[in-house]
Amino acid sequence: MKLLRRRDLVCQQAVELVTDYLEGSLSRSARRRFEAHLAGCPHCTEYLAQMRETIRLTGRLTPDDLTSGMRTDFTDLYRRWRAEQ
Ligand SMILES: [Zn+2]
Repeated sequence: MKLLRRRDLVCQQAVELVTDYLEGSLSRSARRRFEAHLAGCPHCTEYLAQMRETIRLTGRLTPDDLTSGMRTDFTDLYRRWRAEQ
């Protein structure tokens, strides 16, 4: 159980991978773990959807500007979610 859990991505890690995922620069195993995490996590699914929408609107990834604010928002969301459990 502990080994399985350690292999699983936590939300913080998943958020760090979103940009690479969208750029298609994740390794196959990282991509698989990322997608496995998304399948069980509505919060990260929502975050990814927001990122996709941002890219659609701006036509590019701008991790230094846009996503830093979005990451802060997501971190707040994640903290609230953890507090509720
Ligand atoms: Zn998550």
